[in-house]
Amino acid sequence: MTNNEPIISYPAMRDFLRCEKLYYYTNILWLERIERSDALKIEKYVDSVLSQKEVDITEKKNKMNDILKELEEGLDQLLTKQEDEEAVWLSKAKAIIEGMNTLEITKHIVNQDFESQKEFMIRQDGLPQIHGFIDFHHVSDRFFLKLKTAKKIDDYKQDKFKFQIEDQCGMYFLSNPAYEFCVILPIKIPELEYNENKETIEQYYNRCLTDITNRPRHYFVNYNYETKKFGIKLYRQEINENELIKLCKWTAQSIQRCAKENYWPMRKGSCFSPIKCDFYEACSIGISEDRYKKREKL
Ligand code: SF4
Repeated sequence: MTNNEPIISYPAMRDFLRCEKLYYYTNILWLERIERSDALKIEKYVDSVLSQKEVDITEKKNKMNDILKELEEGLDQLLTKQEDEEAVWLSKAKAIIEGMNTLEITKHIVNQDFESQKEFMIRQDGLPQIHGFIDFHHVSDRFFLKLKTAKKIDDYKQDKFKFQIEDQCGMYFLSNPAYEFCVILPIKIPELEYNENKETIEQYYNRCLTDITNRPRHYFVNYNYETKKFGIKLYRQEINENELIKLCKWTAQSIQRCAKENYWPMRKGSCFSPIKCDFYEACSIGISEDRYKKREKL
């Protein structure tokens, strides 16, 4: 490890491997797009509600009902104030959270046995510095939970998903040699359309909630009606740790090289793959203040 080596995180590595210019925008200029997709807003919302960092861990169990009540009231206020466009994604977010409560899923994630958003920093000879957060670290040290909120979760029902997620989870395994396995928790975002001519936003919310509670396995991969748990287990042995370590080192060295040469190539083949890049307008038109803002450094 040398002093000027970059600190690697999974999102930073993902950006760099997609396109060096993208990494430059997100990790050198520290920019982010102001307007986020509904899927991202919902994911952030669900993550933050379930994380509830400000709650004392020892009191978490007792306070859970209060938290959810506050959430319900807060969201109701938001829903009454927002324009339809904002109200639609908020309704979906609220339906996911309320659906998880109704299906008794939440109590298996938010309780005193888990520490949410556990920060880690790996400083180890032979590795670049790696920084990140574990969604839900179990106090036994044996495993962690990883939330994934997405429009499509069918890939998570097939084995191929493990290949795609092993780099991210692999970093978490590297952070703690005691971890034996993790549980990926894929949550599907409702795709129901809001019909403003035929229903109120409250009716739309109720329709989303009913669909979630009627078809839990459609929204929560492998939901078990008896245990009220869901998700997919990924064991440490399934991660190709050597390959990941090589990838982290290669990424850190390549970032250093780009920084030294002050050259961040544009990988134009990545602009629309897998989805449109957030920085397409920055590359094609230029950076404007109405589209991009400084993001917070972690
Ligand atoms: S728009 Fe294309 S070239 Fe520009 S940062 Fe994104 S992927 Fe790279």
